[in-house]
Amino acid sequence: MASILASALAGLGAGEALAPRAMAQSPLSPEEALKELMDGNARFVEGRLTSFAHDLEILKNHTVDKQEPFAALLSCADSRVPVELIFDQSIGHLFVTRVAGNVATPEIIGSLEYGAAVLGTKVILVLGHASCGAVKATIQGKAVPGQISSLFPHIQPAVHVAGHDLERAIAENAKIQAALLREASPVLAEMVKEGHLKIVAGTYDLGSGKVTLLES
Ligand SMILES: [Zn+2]
Repeated sequence: MASILASALAGLGAGEALAPRAMAQSPLSPEEALKELMDGNARFVEGRLTSFAHDLEILKNHTVDKQEPFAALLSCADSRVPVELIFDQSIGHLFVTRVAGNVATPEIIGSLEYGAAVLGTKVILVLGHASCGAVKATIQGKAVPGQISSLFPHIQPAVHVAGHDLERAIAENAKIQAALLREASPVLAEMVKEGHLKIVAGTYDLGSGKVTLLES
C-alpha cells in the first residue's frame, strides 16, 4: 500500500498532489459525506437498510478498474462492528481500515492517506465502540500473549486521561486517534486545512446500533 501511495504521489509535485482535481472523485463535500454516513447509520438503527437493494453485479462491474469511496473509516477489528452494514453502504463506497483498538499506526495512516489523497475520500471517521476489548486490556495492564501488548502504547494516552472509566477511555481514544491523523500526517493536515477533508471521531453502541459523533 505504501509503495502504491508513493508511486501515485511520486509523479506529482507537493502542491499538485493536494490540488482538488487530483482527488475530487466523489462529488460530495466533506459535510455531505459525513451526512451520508450518518444517514446510513440512521437507516441501520431503524432497520430499513437500502444497500441490499443495490445491484451487486452492477456495483462490482463499475468498480473493477477504479474505486471512488466517499468516506474512510478507522474502526476496531471487533466482529460486532461490521462497518459497511452499520452505515448501510455497499461495494465501492467506504474505504475501511481496521485494527484492534482503532489506533493510528504508521500503516493505518499510510492507508488513510492513500484513501484521501489518491482515492478522494471526503471524510475520515475514527470509530470506537462500546465494550472494546483492546481498551479494556490496556486499562487492566495485565500480561497478555504474543504481540497483543503492542497495541497498548497507542491506547495508553486515552487511559491516562480517562483512568479506569472504560466508556470514557473508548471515547477519548477515538478522539486522540482522530487528532493524531489531523496532526501527524502532513498530507491529511493540508487537506483538512484546505477544506477538502473532515476528520471526526465517534463511538458505536453495540446495543442500539447507533453511531454518536464526538466533539473534538
Ligand atoms: Zn474494540
